[in-house]
Amino acid sequence: MSNHYDILFEEVNIGPVTAPNRFYAVPHATGHGWNQPNGALALRKMKAEGGWGTVAVQITEISPNSDFANHPMERIWDDSDLPRHTKQVEVIKKHGSLAAIELGHGGMRARNILTGLPVVGPSSLPILRPEVPVQARKMDLKDIKEFRNNHKEAANRAIRAGYDIIYVYAAHDLSILSHFLSIRTNHRNDEYGGNFKNRVRLLKEVLEDTLDVVAGKKAVALRFSVAEPDKSIGLRHDREGRDVVESLSELPDLWDVNISGWPMDSSTSRFSKEGFQQPFTSFVKSITSKPVVGVGRFTSPETMVSLVKSGQLDLIGAARPSIADPFLPKKIMDNNPNKIRECIGCNICVSMDGYGLPVRCTQNPTISEEWRRNWHPEIISNSSKVIKENLIIGSGPAGLECAWTLLKAGHKVTIAEANKEAGGRVLKESRLPGLNEWIRIKDYRINEININQNANIYYSSTLNASDILNFKSENIIFATGSVWRKDGVGSSNPYPIILDNYNVFSPDDIMDNKLKGLKPSSFIIYDDDHFYMASVIAEKLSLEGHQVSYLTPLSSVATWTDLTLEQDKIINKFKELNIIIKPNIKLIQEGVFVNILTGKSENIDTNKLVFVGARLPVNDVLIEVQNQRDLPNLFYAGDCVSPGIIQSAVLSGHSVARQIIDPEANYSSFLRDNVEISIK
Ligand code: ADP
Ligand code: SF4
Repeated sequence: MSNHYDILFEEVNIGPVTAPNRFYAVPHATGHGWNQPNGALALRKMKAEGGWGTVAVQITEISPNSDFANHPMERIWDDSDLPRHTKQVEVIKKHGSLAAIELGHGGMRARNILTGLPVVGPSSLPILRPEVPVQARKMDLKDIKEFRNNHKEAANRAIRAGYDIIYVYAAHDLSILSHFLSIRTNHRNDEYGGNFKNRVRLLKEVLEDTLDVVAGKKAVALRFSVAEPDKSIGLRHDREGRDVVESLSELPDLWDVNISGWPMDSSTSRFSKEGFQQPFTSFVKSITSKPVVGVGRFTSPETMVSLVKSGQLDLIGAARPSIADPFLPKKIMDNNPNKIRECIGCNICVSMDGYGLPVRCTQNPTISEEWRRNWHPEIISNSSKVIKENLIIGSGPAGLECAWTLLKAGHKVTIAEANKEAGGRVLKESRLPGLNEWIRIKDYRINEININQNANIYYSSTLNASDILNFKSENIIFATGSVWRKDGVGSSNPYPIILDNYNVFSPDDIMDNKLKGLKPSSFIIYDDDHFYMASVIAEKLSLEGHQVSYLTPLSSVATWTDLTLEQDKIINKFKELNIIIKPNIKLIQEGVFVNILTGKSENIDTNKLVFVGARLPVNDVLIEVQNQRDLPNLFYAGDCVSPGIIQSAVLSGHSVARQIIDPEANYSSFLRDNVEISIK
């Protein structure tokens, strides 16, 4: 049946191959690298099943001197890697999608700790990993030749594995080709250094090598970051970035363009909205006749249609939107765009790469669980056919996800919510500066719940233990959340502190607008939580006209946001708002702030303190119920069990629902990629 979005389902020729539609799942870190192949394969298979016409594999190291361990990338070092890739191609193609592989060499961003080989690059400079005190070895002409040969051999293997699109990777400052291109890292004075023509030479040669190897049978894509807006000396889309596109314009079969580094390309919704890369990348189509794919956290089919119609992109690239909803294309095809589980731009997915672990997602708790727990994001079946009644107390992310999942399996759900509206913490947090897209967590689920005949939701209904015990329901699920403490207990301090000298506010107080009407004053925000909360509260108070000092016992601002690629942006925002930053300041007994490095106490000129530390689980009713009766079917999910990030609450709500749906399944264990023992 034709629909308004037909243009998105047109075929696109990419050199000798044809993408069945314009939905393009670009390469992205999955955390399931070469050493966790089953999870990787199942994750990509799900995207193909969900309608992505092209599914790409993440950075695939071409040789041992591009060793990214402990970031689990793919590898195609030699033929022993082939069986994994052959299978990968098979599972992607089974659903009619094209399979693409991003061949890459990390150059000065590789660490080579596992292989013990020297890190190589265009110049003898410290490698681009401040955590590793090592310099790169300057490549001589023989090394350059060897690198080109390795790339050719990798391309050859990729062809043998059956990939349709072979990438040349020059993006994110994560590629040796970017390092040769950049005057930051290329200080050579031979034919590979100096002027632009020399610096782009290696990229051009590798593109030509790859085109030679594929010999017109497969497509060659160039992934290139056209701009580096976060670098003072970096590519600009209207200068050398453009020069690269102009000088190589017709060489690749596909241009895959973005901005660099990763914090720019994967900017969070707090700092960048949908389509944020277009001002940088839209020029590319005017220079080349080859198809162009670009990204920008696209979740709106209207935006996608307009990008194609206005000639800005041929293919709609997505990493995060395809993680949050692997079935995004199918939903648009079925004319059901309101069913899209839209990415909220929180970068929990990205943070897992920092840990070197399989990707997690706030919106999609089934990501990375496709193989090891056999979870499907859309199909949740109830094999027993018995329909159970479930009472869920609380409608935050945990309660809503639990309800949505149970309903999907055909069970009945009653939700009791103390508040007048659903959403719990996301309702409040999404009103904080920059976090408005987080409301999608609630919206997606409540929209589905509201149209389901098996669901009842009661607002302004604070249940006590006797209400719950009198309620006729087979299962009772507590999802009652948590509240912020204001007694000094936080990540660096396990004991309450006497804070009588202060007028203390918690994040809940701020979100509940307890400061309404207060004339501009001075505030201390003390961050002993270390994720986003203290920084957004600081921003909010500053925007409301208060003078804010941000104090933390750690040595930097909002430490955990380094993993979500937000830390530098938060620091810049603080500078812009004149928020005073005081790291290494610890709140100790009697409410004294002490500089950890000097041991001296800190002069504080206000008694208004926002304390952002630990949270208390809201579990008093749960404990009362447990004390009164031993209920076999009592469950608890989310922050009322262990306060944490929203992604954990969603995953917890989902897991509880799965336990109810399939009581036989053991959710404390999962399938593992087991290593074969080869010692005889
Ligand atoms: P989580 O992140 O675990 O989902 P939230 O704090 O976001 O937790 O949500 C918990 C929700 O539970 C809140 O909306 C709160 O109003 C609700 N709630 C807490 N206690 C009760 C109760 N006794 N009866 C009904 N709703 C409750
Ligand atoms: Fe989007 Fe957040 Fe999921 Fe990443 S974790 S895909 S940013 S919703």
